[in-house]
Amino acid sequence: MGDTKDMIVYRLGANCDLDEVEEGKAYLGRVQGFAPFGVFVQLNDRVKGLVHKSNVKVQHEERDPIIVHVLQIRSNGNIDLEEVTPTVYQTQNVTKKTTSVLLSDIGKKIGRTVLIEGEVAQIKQTSGPTIFTIVDESGTANGAAFIEAGVRAYPEVDLGDIVALTGEVMQRNNQLQIEIGSMTVLAPEDTARVRERIDAALDLRAEPVDLPFLVESDVLRALRPQMRKVAKEIRKAVLTARPIVLRHHADADGICAAVAIEQAVTALLRESGGDFDAEYFLFKRSPSKAPFYEIEDITRDLDFALKDNARYGQKMPMILLMDNGSTEEDMPSLKVTRIYGLPVMVVDHHHPDEVVDEYLIGHVNPYHVGGDYGITAGMLGTEIARLVNPAVEDQIRHLPAIAGVGDRSEAPERARYIALAAPEYSEDDCRDIALALDYEQFWLRFSDGREIVKDILNLSGNPERHAKFVDLLVEEANRAIEEQMEAIMPHVESRTLPNGAHLFMLDVELFAHRFTFPPPGKTSGEVHDRLVRERPGVPVVTLGFGPDFAVLRSRGVMMNIPRMVRELHSEIAGGGVSGGGHLVVGSIKFVEGMREPVVESLIQKIGEAPI
Ligand code: MN
Repeated sequence: MGDTKDMIVYRLGANCDLDEVEEGKAYLGRVQGFAPFGVFVQLNDRVKGLVHKSNVKVQHEERDPIIVHVLQIRSNGNIDLEEVTPTVYQTQNVTKKTTSVLLSDIGKKIGRTVLIEGEVAQIKQTSGPTIFTIVDESGTANGAAFIEAGVRAYPEVDLGDIVALTGEVMQRNNQLQIEIGSMTVLAPEDTARVRERIDAALDLRAEPVDLPFLVESDVLRALRPQMRKVAKEIRKAVLTARPIVLRHHADADGICAAVAIEQAVTALLRESGGDFDAEYFLFKRSPSKAPFYEIEDITRDLDFALKDNARYGQKMPMILLMDNGSTEEDMPSLKVTRIYGLPVMVVDHHHPDEVVDEYLIGHVNPYHVGGDYGITAGMLGTEIARLVNPAVEDQIRHLPAIAGVGDRSEAPERARYIALAAPEYSEDDCRDIALALDYEQFWLRFSDGREIVKDILNLSGNPERHAKFVDLLVEEANRAIEEQMEAIMPHVESRTLPNGAHLFMLDVELFAHRFTFPPPGKTSGEVHDRLVRERPGVPVVTLGFGPDFAVLRSRGVMMNIPRMVRELHSEIAGGGVSGGGHLVVGSIKFVEGMREPVVESLIQKIGEAPI
């Protein structure tokens, strides 16, 4: 080591230790004390070494600055130094080397300072600190930064930025939190490197497990790739703290589909290490009254999403539509989602219109693979929920049977799912639970009734209360249905159509109780069931209508309701016809003043349908 002007003398930072000291390098030190065999030198408060007397160049006093060259670091941590006396040199600071720690490992680092690299997934301003939710390839954690009560810390850090932060790992109310000491947004090239690393790892972690389906099914097998895709996107949303808004048809099938996913997602969120109440603000389930994603629904969802984004620094949500979302009627809402960049997925068994697909990142529908509505949304939802989180399987395995019974599935899978539920739930139990769901949802209106619905589906770990509650709801529902039937049955009119079908018509506006259970659609469904039961082997169509709508059900008549709606729309000028649904179960809307010509045309089309 010569006295050259290129020489670098290092100054060890205060929190550096032996890890930052290197053999062969020169350091600025301070004389600490003297011994017969040499001079002790401090490189900082934590690190000291010995200059053997043979290597001392000048006389010193305590606290004198001294430049030393590191000869050797022994295995016991002792450092052998040699004094050097360069006349020209540069000094350079050495800072504590921290290698970044994965968020999944911070539980082992409580009380220690860690360096974390990750994406900012949420920025929440509290009345005290600012809480940054950080996501990396291994998990999620909250970091707290404080400047002044209620003042946003690190205003330069935005949602979605890739940051490096250091801070001490603390345990607060059984939750790990990092007290942020410093945080910087990474430079573009580092951002790209870290984001690539996180994305690749998340992609692997989001990959669903490979599980056989609960029952044998050709249709499900053919749907597997799309189901895996939807499951993967749901997992990815959970892993990256993206909120999920689940919209579903407000009937037993739609509820079963949605609750299966709810169970899978909320359990994952509880494990993920974010906020203790993440399962409430990162997952929302909302029933849709209409069998499609109405403008009213998207308006509410968008309103909440934008407010949560502005107020709580949440990401914009992913939207999952279940037991609806496949048809042309969903288009106006889907167009809104595109403007706001909201990813949308659909799990449905209504006859799909191709136009929706360009708005969706995932679409599971049995019609895509030659199946039909017999594979209900509840069956699809339960199988997808298992892919999202296999741990919830035992809780949800009875849901497809309830869904199949509730939606009157005629697919062979129905019996298989009923057999699967059979040890605990008979087919009658499933029918009761489906009715209880429909009845309770009527009174819940637009609420999800998360905990009430769990009780009805026996997911709350209180089987006794479940049984009592379902019994009561079924009793009340049946009483209400009986009252409705007593009122309306004497007013049912019948006709025989040219194709031999028996048509039954009822005016659910004039001859049924309104604004109570059962609503018009269910009322005419109930009437239809009774008429069909009394006429085995006869093709039957039931048409329930109000002033500006009609609901249709059929047995043994091959109608295509979506096509009939399109034809009526173009044939009847000023009829204002719209609607849809399944091929043989559906609803039609029109303007009140045109009821007669619309209904007459409709009847004519039913009379032309093949038996
Ligand atoms: Mn359904």
